[in-house]
Parts: sequence; C-alpha cells; structure tokens
Amino acid sequence: MGLGSLFKRGKKEKKEEVIESHIDINGDVCDACEKCSIACPNNVLMIVEDKMSVRDPQVCKSCRVCMAICPNDCITVN
Ligand code: SF4
Ligand code: SF4
Repeated sequence: MGLGSLFKRGKKEKKEEVIESHIDINGDVCDACEKCSIACPNNVLMIVEDKMSVRDPQVCKSCRVCMAICPNDCITVN
C-alpha cells in the first residue's frame, strides 16, 4: 500500500465522522408558523408543500433553539 492510498483512507474516515442530528417534527400539531425556521441559526428547517420540513440535518448543531421557540412543542432534536 503506497502513501497515496493511506492518505485517501484517512480522508474517507474523517468524512464518516459527520454527526447527523435527528430532528422530528410532529406534523399533527405543527401549524407551519415558521418560528423555528426563522430562529434556526443554521437554516436547517424550511416549509415544503405547506409543512415544516428538515432541509439538511447535517448542518444542524443540536442547539435546540427550534425546540425552545416552537409554540406547539412539536420538535424533538436528539
Ligand atoms: S415553530 Fe413549531 S409549529 Fe411553528 S412551524 Fe416550527 S414546528 Fe411548526
Ligand atoms: S437544533 Fe438548532 S441548528 Fe438544529 S434545527 Fe434546531 S435550531 Fe436549527
């Protein structure tokens, strides 16, 4: 195994370290007020077809600002 392939393996392992937050939005109680998406510092949430949705879980920093601001208590981040 040459140095080149060692370098490539190292890069691959680093990529796998990305931690993806799990964000649940209870669509039964969400009224699409958009408070969570406006408050999110990382632009993770957005309205899709009149429903609040997770745009990109990989950029979520698990700060839970969205959970705190939701008036209907319908977001869970873990
Ligand atoms: S703040 Fe809560 S109720 Fe409002 S859009 Fe977000 S998840 Fe839905
Ligand atoms: S936990 Fe923070 S970063 Fe993640 S979606 Fe909620 S507000 Fe955005």
